[in-house]
Amino acid sequence: MKVQSLFQNRQIFSFEVFPPKPDVPIGKIYETLATLKNLNPDFISVTYGAGGSVPGASTAEICAYIQNQLGIPSIAHLPCINETKESVLEKLHTFRELGIENVLALRGDRNPAVEPKHDFSYAADLISFISQHGEFDIAAACYPEGHPEAADLDTDILHLREKVQAGASHLISQLFYSNRDFYVFREKIAAAGISVPVEAGIMPVTSKKSIERMVSLCGASIPKRLAKLMARYADDPAALKAAGLEYAIEQILELRKNGADGIHLYTMNNPDVARYIAEAVSE
Ligand code: FAD
Repeated sequence: MKVQSLFQNRQIFSFEVFPPKPDVPIGKIYETLATLKNLNPDFISVTYGAGGSVPGASTAEICAYIQNQLGIPSIAHLPCINETKESVLEKLHTFRELGIENVLALRGDRNPAVEPKHDFSYAADLISFISQHGEFDIAAACYPEGHPEAADLDTDILHLREKVQAGASHLISQLFYSNRDFYVFREKIAAAGISVPVEAGIMPVTSKKSIERMVSLCGASIPKRLAKLMARYADDPAALKAAGLEYAIEQILELRKNGADGIHLYTMNNPDVARYIAEAVSE
């Protein structure tokens, strides 16, 4: 099923998982997915390391399992910075053979240790290419606080519009912790003529280390209230996790009240966290 068709007069709830790291038993991802299935997500997306796949279940295999065994639509992430046109065509061919219909087309992060290929400079190039080579539903990433490499949010939004013009049918946002940033972003993209659905990306704070890592990677800012919680529970990991989960639940409920097209929960492959949040926000 094409994910695009789900955004009709209702708010979507979806999950993101990643292929298991080499040191994690392969069965673990299937256990995680079994729990996620019971939470009735509208779709599950599966990340792909821009540096290439790691041994174990690949993005495509996991997407196929979600769709064909669990009966839930899936989206395969596809970063292009280290791909050639030929390698993308091969991947699209595999997706088609496995019945995967949805792709999140990305540029991927630059890795100083890897010389990028030059067939695709930006995600918009990949989106145009995929649009010309198959019947895929294409999603793209967006950044409520602006992409870290962009000169400013307005410039980033002009590039976002290029992705939509190239064929992206819906957007999934980078994580953010201030809903206000998301609302301002929504107004700005509407003013720029972008009218496709936008899902809000939510990553619950579950530990000090994980949030510090994510924030340094993606440049998301930490609002005062969250910073205070983190300081208050700095020496109490269980209390910090509980406060982080409540913060995410509040964020989701408020976003829904304010008409967000959907919520995309970054599960970090933690089914207990996903279940706790999904149950708390269920209608
Ligand atoms: P682009 O849209 O190409 O934008 C990248 C930068 O280039 C931006 O600053 C943009 O403003 C600028 N730009 C765009 N077009 C132009 C132009 N024509 N001229 C000048 N500047 C331009 N990474 C992975 O490796 N694997 C994943 O599975 C993955 N999943 C993700 C899922 C989501 C929901 C999100 C939000 C991000 C994900 N990422 C993933 C991270 C993503 O690859 C990085 O954020 C990457 O740095 C940018 O990717 P993009 O597709 O947004 O790039």
